[in-house]
Amino acid sequence: MAQPGIWKTELAYLKKVGPTRADLLKSELGLMTFGDLLQFFPRKYIDRSKLGSIRDIRPDTSQITLMGRITGINAMRGGRGNRLTATFSDGTGSIELTWFKNARFVQQTLKAGEEVVIFGNPRQFGRTIQIAHPEIERGGDRDALTQHLKIVPVYQTTEKLSRAGLDSKGIRKLVEQLFEQAGTSFSEVLPLWVLQQCRLPGRGEAFRNIHFPADEATLETAKRRLKFEEFFFFQMLMAQRKLVEQPKHGSHPFPVVGQLFNDFYAHHIPFPLTEAQKRVIKEIRMDLRKPMQMNRLVQGDVGSGKTMVAFMSMLLALDNGFQAALMAPTEILAEQHHNNIAKYSKHLGIHVGLLTGSVKGAERKQVLAGVQQGIIRILIGTHAVLEDSVVFEKLGLVVVDEQHKFGVMQRAKLWGKGAGGLFPHNMVMTATPIPRTLALTVYGDVDVSKIDELPPGRKPIVTAVRTEAQRLHVFGFMRNELESGRQVYVVYPLVEESEKSDLLAVTEGYEALTRAFQGYHVGIVHGKMKSEAKDFEMQRFKKGETRILVATTVIEVGVDVPNASVIVVENADKFGLSQLHQLRGRVGRGQHQSYCILMAGKQASEDARKRLSAMVDTNDGFKIAEIDMEIRGPGDFLGVRQSGLPEMKLASLTEDAELFYEARDAAFSMISNDPLLGLPEHSLTAQYFQKYQKKVGVLKDIA
Ligand code: ADP
Ligand code: MG
Repeated sequence: MAQPGIWKTELAYLKKVGPTRADLLKSELGLMTFGDLLQFFPRKYIDRSKLGSIRDIRPDTSQITLMGRITGINAMRGGRGNRLTATFSDGTGSIELTWFKNARFVQQTLKAGEEVVIFGNPRQFGRTIQIAHPEIERGGDRDALTQHLKIVPVYQTTEKLSRAGLDSKGIRKLVEQLFEQAGTSFSEVLPLWVLQQCRLPGRGEAFRNIHFPADEATLETAKRRLKFEEFFFFQMLMAQRKLVEQPKHGSHPFPVVGQLFNDFYAHHIPFPLTEAQKRVIKEIRMDLRKPMQMNRLVQGDVGSGKTMVAFMSMLLALDNGFQAALMAPTEILAEQHHNNIAKYSKHLGIHVGLLTGSVKGAERKQVLAGVQQGIIRILIGTHAVLEDSVVFEKLGLVVVDEQHKFGVMQRAKLWGKGAGGLFPHNMVMTATPIPRTLALTVYGDVDVSKIDELPPGRKPIVTAVRTEAQRLHVFGFMRNELESGRQVYVVYPLVEESEKSDLLAVTEGYEALTRAFQGYHVGIVHGKMKSEAKDFEMQRFKKGETRILVATTVIEVGVDVPNASVIVVENADKFGLSQLHQLRGRVGRGQHQSYCILMAGKQASEDARKRLSAMVDTNDGFKIAEIDMEIRGPGDFLGVRQSGLPEMKLASLTEDAELFYEARDAAFSMISNDPLLGLPEHSLTAQYFQKYQKKVGVLKDIA
């Protein structure tokens, strides 16, 4: 039985460690307690369970385990220091063992005639077979030696640790020691019914077997259990929020589908909705009827028509006497939304307001007053909407576009502006499709709607990768499109908005294009420009006054210029996959066949090449997202520290999807059966869950 508190015991108290090595373990690997070491999982395993024989060694044998005798030892002085050789026989033949390093030390420990087990990589030199620096297990008779025939864990280590005797083997000995001192009955944290239902081994057993598996199958089972646990507790958090916390968030119900919605739908909608848009609007309508806050993420690829879905949802709020707000991450986007929504609203007699940093003075006052008095029914804006001076008469629905650009705190602030002290309903739109497992992890407490269909008649964008050598061809192609009246984007990467060299690339590109395309107006936008200047340039491009727009990724999201048919991405290998897909979405927004040209350097990395070929292969944002997450891993995929993604040591959202769903189901049924975790059979799980919540406490502020 493991003593209570053993988990937190400092490693200095583990036999064979002591203060010096404990310090090293801490500084080199961050390991401080028994629990840390227990969770310091092997980097890989070597199968030494099968005994080989010298007779069977072939030229391609890379690893072998042998049992036999040291038959002779021979120290030599080589040109550059000591070298030690020994002969070893196992009855089927004999081979040579050699040491170039630590020869003297090895010599002191080796005994001629002793029976040992050796592991190593045999190499053939003429008629001699040699193993350099074999690992040797010694001590005892054949039976005792046989115990070394097993799957052996390999641990990550460092130079410094190795010098202190803590190479992989040294660490292995410590872990063995740990189990000797602590036993394997670490207290279970999953309820028995979960273990049974999901066919999982106990916790202590899993820990033991992940370090010292008897065979492949045991190892897999142990890993499965520990991965499950990683998924399970995070999903408990989600389940608790969704099933226990959120129902407490009252919101005003919108029971009627009224005049505005019906009138717009019957007479003013400029195009028939796609089936996907209809479905999502219906899902939202169902949510809004309840006196409970809606919390819905609407995912839709670029160009899938999210704005219309947002607008019609806002009409539902208006029909029930409430105001609606829409928040976008940039001024350009806010203005664009404002233009569209004002256009849609024209025949409905709805006042739509715009509030961004550039709305100032009297104009600003008027907007603020309009919002407060309820004259303005829909307010569209940037972060400016969050300011304390913005007071709504009766806010009932908040739509946030491109959510990942806003922090959790900012969202919470907007919620505080709800009518009558109740939260407004909340809808988040994103064009960065998130693979399902990741969505359920980060937004596990949110309902997800998908607009998985593009409006009819869109021509797939043709994507090609080109190199510098093909530059003239690319220019020729651009010229053709310009001559047919189209417009062109040329995008430069910006690793960091502050980097001078990046800025230089854009401005130099601008100059080069101006020279190469005389007779066509060229515009430029980048993050270092004042927002008025940026807007001015964007408007000129939108109106067709400039025909080529040289830009950084400020144009990444949402910008809508249907006449643009070509986007050229410079140094495309420097961009992330989802970002490339977003950029590509700037074209193909009108009736014209559109093109995305990815300029790539010759020395693009393998990952970069994978990204570029994924772009050429598919236009499907969801596929792109899956591939992107595979290449980058979920953390980098989300791209933000505040993503709220829990640290996972073993589990992978891409590879362990099936297990993820099992864990999620178990967590949700646990919380729905026992919302307060009061059942005696849940008490250990509840205790652990409390600690877990403290550890990941980041997401608290939503509640
Ligand atoms: P996104 O989902 O990228 O925000 P938008 O809302 O900007 O997409 O819509 C992209 C374009 O498609 C806009 O020009 C919009 O007017 C148009 N659109 C949206 N829905 C439809 C539809 N059902 N039929 C035809 N065009 C549509
Ligand atoms: Mg949009």
